[in-house]
Amino acid sequence: MTVFNFSAGPAVLPKPVLEQAQSEMLDYRGSGMSVMELSHRSSLFENIIQEAEALLRELMNIPDNYQVLFLQGGASMQFSMVPLNLAQGKKALYANTGSWSKKAISEAKKIAGVEVEVIASSEEQNFTYIPEITPDMVDQDAAYLHITTNNTIEGSAYQTIPDAGKVPIVADMSSNILANDYKTEDFGIIYAGAQKNIGPAGLTVVIIRDDLLGLFPTPSAMLDYKIQADNHSLYNTPPTFAIYMAKLVFEWVKANGGVAGMLKQDQAKAGLLYHTIAESNLFTSPVDKDSRSITNIPFVTGSEALDKKFNQEALAAGFENLKGHRSVGGMRASLYNAFPLEGVEALVAFMKQFEIENGGN
Ligand SMILES: *Cc1c(COP(=O)(O)O)cnc(C)c1O
Repeated sequence: MTVFNFSAGPAVLPKPVLEQAQSEMLDYRGSGMSVMELSHRSSLFENIIQEAEALLRELMNIPDNYQVLFLQGGASMQFSMVPLNLAQGKKALYANTGSWSKKAISEAKKIAGVEVEVIASSEEQNFTYIPEITPDMVDQDAAYLHITTNNTIEGSAYQTIPDAGKVPIVADMSSNILANDYKTEDFGIIYAGAQKNIGPAGLTVVIIRDDLLGLFPTPSAMLDYKIQADNHSLYNTPPTFAIYMAKLVFEWVKANGGVAGMLKQDQAKAGLLYHTIAESNLFTSPVDKDSRSITNIPFVTGSEALDKKFNQEALAAGFENLKGHRSVGGMRASLYNAFPLEGVEALVAFMKQFEIENGGN
């Protein structure tokens, strides 16, 4: 049976990437060793990490005054590293747009001396929209403004990046990095756990502007952006195999039209599903029209029993991981870059059939 994996993360990877990893698994470029067995100080691995960085710089048009870091600890570790490195004794501004924003806020509050201020929130409406942030809302003395560009669980995304004046914007881009046309220079820091749109779990990508390095002492070298940058992400043993897989994904993105090519495909996939939802008398989107994500698309029938039936039948038909997050319910289709259009075509056909069989008209 063909399986389509709608997982929110760890998520589907491009098949050609998996095939290449398989073909190089036992003998990487004549070394007689797997990438997993290479020293992180070997020239073979140094080439891998340097190529990965160069490819990401090219794909995202990253200016020279930004560092690219390959770290561990997930996006969740960034929830602490950002305030620790940027805001000791200062005010940090947050937009509260979903479960991950909420976690970022609560982690920042744990860092001594950081004054956390939530300047915009959609929590009172179950995070069904992206609240507007106007320049007058941004205290120009703040250390940064933190936003979550794509709310993976709730299915909303910023269509444009707010104007924060001279305050750097820090973006959790875990679920839509390489799937949008945001500009790197609109941000002070971009971070993303790799397991959604970049590669396997275990790697966290951080893109940070030079002037944000080394502002405050940190209690651990591992948590210090400047030390990580000075050591080119090789302060300790990095997640070598995950970096190699990320490099293969970056090559695949480049070969498929770069970020513009991804965006075009992702818009086509999302457009098909949103169109089907709009035409349906059974399925609805809980998210406001002008705040919708193209990578994570929740939908519901309005009946918990029918949602459950849909999820059971979908799973039996080969649609994996469609069940909505436990905090939201219903269904959620995560359509990351590597998710094929055929998977969306199969899903909408299945939805239409389900609607006919279950009382839609
Ligand atoms: C998945 C996700 C996280 C958590 O990532 P980890 O790498 O598991 O820590 C944080 N923020 C967003 C937006 C996510 O999608």
